[in-house]
Amino acid sequence: MMQSVQFLHGVGPARAQLLEKLEIRTVEDLLWHLPRDILDLTEVRQPRDLVEQVVQSVRGVIVDLDARHTSTGKVMTACLIDSNGEYVRGTWFNQPWMLNRLRQANNVLFSGKPKKHQGRWEFSHPRIQFLTDDDDITTGGIVPRYGLTEGLRMHDMHRLMRSAVEQFAESIPEHLPESFLESESLPTLPAAVRSIHLPATAKEYEAGRRRVLFDDLFEFQVGLALRRRAWHREQSAPSIPVTAKIDARIRRLFPFRFTGGQDQAIRDVAADLAKDKAMHRLVQADVGAGKTVIAVYAMLAAVAAGRQCVLMAPTELLASQHWETVDRILGQSRVTRAVLTGRLGAAERREVLEGIRSGSLQLVVGTQAVIQEGVTFANLGLAVIDEQHKFGVAQRSWFSNAAEGLAPHVLVMTATPIPRSLCLTQFGDLDLTVVNELPPGRQRVVTSRIMSAKAREKAWAFVRQQVEAGRQLYVVCPKVGSENGSGVGDDDGSAEQTFVDLQKGELEGLRLGLVHGRMDRDRRHETMEDFRHGNLDVLVSTTVIEVGVDVPNATLMVILQAERFGLSQLHQLRGRVARGKYQGYCFLVSEADAADASTRLTVLEQTSDGFKIAEADFELRGPGDVLGTRQHGELPLRVADLVRDREILEESRKTAFELVQSGRIDSPEFAPLKLRVLDRFGKLMDLPRSG
Ligand code: ADP
Ligand code: MG
Repeated sequence: MMQSVQFLHGVGPARAQLLEKLEIRTVEDLLWHLPRDILDLTEVRQPRDLVEQVVQSVRGVIVDLDARHTSTGKVMTACLIDSNGEYVRGTWFNQPWMLNRLRQANNVLFSGKPKKHQGRWEFSHPRIQFLTDDDDITTGGIVPRYGLTEGLRMHDMHRLMRSAVEQFAESIPEHLPESFLESESLPTLPAAVRSIHLPATAKEYEAGRRRVLFDDLFEFQVGLALRRRAWHREQSAPSIPVTAKIDARIRRLFPFRFTGGQDQAIRDVAADLAKDKAMHRLVQADVGAGKTVIAVYAMLAAVAAGRQCVLMAPTELLASQHWETVDRILGQSRVTRAVLTGRLGAAERREVLEGIRSGSLQLVVGTQAVIQEGVTFANLGLAVIDEQHKFGVAQRSWFSNAAEGLAPHVLVMTATPIPRSLCLTQFGDLDLTVVNELPPGRQRVVTSRIMSAKAREKAWAFVRQQVEAGRQLYVVCPKVGSENGSGVGDDDGSAEQTFVDLQKGELEGLRLGLVHGRMDRDRRHETMEDFRHGNLDVLVSTTVIEVGVDVPNATLMVILQAERFGLSQLHQLRGRVARGKYQGYCFLVSEADAADASTRLTVLEQTSDGFKIAEADFELRGPGDVLGTRQHGELPLRVADLVRDREILEESRKTAFELVQSGRIDSPEFAPLKLRVLDRFGKLMDLPRSG
């Protein structure tokens, strides 16, 4: 298996070099070079031979493409292909990204059950396969398609794979016990590898592929489960009991009653804190549901128990906003507290570090500066991490490892709900609390997409009217200035230019302010304060206002080039105008005519449930989106894809956690699996070698 590919018939030094470009050096590498997909040529027919109700395929060249909005606001994508002189149509409903995929294609294969419609064959939601010059469709059968490199043809790859499978597949070691494979209906690895490279049927290929994807996700989940078990076994934490008296004292600091959701979350957290095992909990709340309350409650409970606590935020801005909030809530209370960011002067910093070391500081808010070298807590009881998806699994363990003796409890919060599949991986080692209830009196923000020039005019007139009636307005831009630095062109969507333009144009006569992240902190703060006190009508800004800004009289938000933001981010932004007693409005201005931008924004018009929005965003962005890949890119998965392979993810998680919780993982038959998991994730997840 570890032999060089040159052992294979037909591979000499020249071909070995080509394979090297694909990072294929050994026979094993070759066998793990999985197909990108398969071409299913089992039922390819000429249009005239098609029949209804049977799965078949036709091949053709794309001759026409279009996407239309239906009366219900959905998008219908249609594609006409020419198949040897006969036309066949494919249609997709509400899959706006299809248009872009099809635009990049020429030769395609539709598969599905066709129907005759007004004399023409039509496939509704056909499976579509894009053909390249490398594809030979005369072979029939199931044809795996591989990533290639110049000089190496598909045909060559097929021959190589065949000989590699014939010679070596049987000797691939199996690391899962037979009984386990049986109960999970998984093929053995040798069988899986054979079905992936030499599939007789699409079903067989899928079964082989499922095994490989399962392994990928399953090993990751076993790692997470082992990590949790190690925490529970090894991490003694200070018990932080919350008595009724302490509870009452904390609640008195807030000018409102907690919501049911907050109370539930606080119960979860308090139960964890009371144990002498470290808490590892994720609080996911919808935007505006009041996570801060939960964090502050937990911190004060720690302080009341004589322990230090720390809140870590991903950016300077967030840290200082959290600091302001916490400081305001604590008001005159005697809790000793400080903020620690990279901006502190040397003397101040030294003083804060000393307070942390001696224990004289009870509560610290900061950026990653709080987990740097030289920071030693005297008796840390609780760390709250405001994640925003920015910290990884590894960073979270800093707190646990830094403490000598007792480990602190760890509470993680995310700014917006995250899709479940990300939750199960990125945060899959944590217990979960979901808060999906907003404080009373919040209304839904009326949200509209603004696509045409005429609609823009109307929107500006509307906000002008509202501002004249005393309300305030945010205008959010995707960037600060012209990013090319020349000051010429490329000013679209820049906050600086928008500020100038609006002042002379649509919002002439109103009082405008400008804030963005590149501005000096004091000036930004001053402008925000002016806005807060009603001395400004309009705040033009970048996403710096995304989190933490709280001005109840600001009820309007115009977001420019809205298509450039993620849906969850837009949801977070519009949360700023749902805070007061007046109806909030959000206008999503988008000139992009692309149907997919428009459909994405429709989701925001239609729902105000952040959890649904997160899922829709994850799905709609489709495979391969920048944000999407960046997010999975951070996960050490080899072949699995969180959007595509969600079902396998759920399954593998359940199985993995059962295996670990029941202790079966420790039986000798699972030793090979455990070794693999330690190999892949031991370091990343900080797993104990012993088990
Ligand atoms: P998010 O979950 O978006 O971070 P915050 O914690 O910032 O939400 O809270 C949003 C706003 O709601 C703040 O102004 C906060 O004071 C207010 N708030 C939080 N909880 C309640 C409550 N139970 N009743 C009324 N207002 C609340
Ligand atoms: Mg908040």
